Amino acid sequence: MIDPYLLAFLLIVLIGSVTVYIYYLKEKNEQLESINRGFCPKCHKKSMELTDQRSSGCSGPKIVSFECTSCGYTNSFAVESGGSCGSGGCR
Ligand SMILES: [Zn+2]
Repeated sequence: MIDPYLLAFLLIVLIGSVTVYIYYLKEKNEQLESINRGFCPKCHKKSMELTDQRSSGCSGPKIVSFECTSCGYTNSFAVESGGSCGSGGCR
């Protein structure tokens, strides 16, 4: 028999972490949108620069890093590589 208090606790932890995760994704997405337009999400100046770009092969997202030259804000994002592998080269 499972302790109902333990079950409730686990449920709260689960809901909590899911909420945090969704919030994190939403915020990350908003930041990426801002950066895609060239604006820093932190200081809102148009000073974002692409500093690093890594691809983990054909079947994975690309890791891109941005840095703001104005306030020093940095962030990296995993973006789906849009067909840069071409056709047939991977498999
Ligand atoms: Zn900035």
